[in-house]
Amino acid sequence: MRDPTLCVTPGDGDPGPFQSLAVPVHRASTVVFPTVAAYQGRRDEIYDGFSYGLYGTPTSRELETRLARLEGAARTLVVPSGFAAIALTTLAAVAPGQRVLFPDSIYDTVRPFAAHFLAGLGIASGYYDPMAGGGLGEQLTDDVGLVWVESPGSMTMEVQNVSAIAAAARARGAKVAADNTWATPLRFKPLAHGVDFSICALSKYVAGHSDVMMGSVSVGDVDLYRRLKDYSRYLGYGVSADESSLVLRGLETLAVRMDRAEQSATRLADWAAQQPWAAEVRFPPRPGSPGHDLWKRDFTGGAGLFSVFLHEWARPGLATAVEALQLFAIGASWGGTRSLVAVLDGPPLRTAAPLLHKGPVVRFSVGLEDADDLLADLAQAFGGLASGESSERHG
Ligand SMILES: *Cc1c(COP(=O)(O)O)cnc(C)c1O
Repeated sequence: MRDPTLCVTPGDGDPGPFQSLAVPVHRASTVVFPTVAAYQGRRDEIYDGFSYGLYGTPTSRELETRLARLEGAARTLVVPSGFAAIALTTLAAVAPGQRVLFPDSIYDTVRPFAAHFLAGLGIASGYYDPMAGGGLGEQLTDDVGLVWVESPGSMTMEVQNVSAIAAAARARGAKVAADNTWATPLRFKPLAHGVDFSICALSKYVAGHSDVMMGSVSVGDVDLYRRLKDYSRYLGYGVSADESSLVLRGLETLAVRMDRAEQSATRLADWAAQQPWAAEVRFPPRPGSPGHDLWKRDFTGGAGLFSVFLHEWARPGLATAVEALQLFAIGASWGGTRSLVAVLDGPPLRTAAPLLHKGPVVRFSVGLEDADDLLADLAQAFGGLASGESSERHG
């Protein structure tokens, strides 16, 4: 079966006597047992069975089963947020005295997590050029326990050579984790490229309606899953059946939403590239975007998120232009039905591979509005920006 079919096809759990097309919402704190022996053996059930609401319900397990099928994983674990998936994976993969390597383009909350939390546990961290490919070289010291990739990178959209990085890391005995949030398992399957942990912020495209927080970690190895499940228990992580049900609903329309967002984003990115204020458009499906050839090699499609690097002269008029947008709300996060815009005064912090760009960066998350309406809105709001160029030249 192909991915869009898998998104809507039930797992093989026992449906019970009542059958509808909906996945039931099984709320629980206490789970009850038919015998004393079953009660006393409940701890063994946390991995694949049911023992307590925090450790899984038939609703969360159905979500995990469907995600595991899409990821090509032995098991998937759902956790309370995308960041919880990053933290859990890192804590389960490295020990005090070891080092974690992150791409310079990593999701921004990772930097304070590494500097203030991991460092306090005796876990060191380092950053590498996201375009380094397998050439991590001297950075792959013997103490490296985990190498992260995020492809494409947050805000700056570099597509990484995941298979080359994974091969280099594994050759040195390090594990490899991928943040696959932009692509979702519909567009890229990290585990098939040598990655040990594939994480996804389900809060974005998979849930898809900007109203639920959740994350997933998928692994090809049952022992690794059991370790993740143990750590999630020690940290008290769990997800509710209600929210699992919302994510399952999102998953059922993921394939059509991704196709539509990609189509509209392609038109908007093409338009942006022709504007005088755009110094560079970063969208992996566009030739010239960093790692475009790797995107063509490894991905089966695009998504609705792209960034524009603006000339410095556009900075003074930018807030007015963005606030004039009617259809794009100003906000972080992304992947919902409504279009969003995020504005950075300059490029994000880089400590390994400096970005030469100095101007503002605008990231668009394209939603499900009609693409002609979105183009018209951008044109009316950003139309005045070009005049900043002539006033700067003449002034
Ligand atoms: C949003 C995001 C996260 C964090 O997910 P939350 O569910 O918001 O915690 C992690 N990685 C990437 C790439 C993201 O965009």
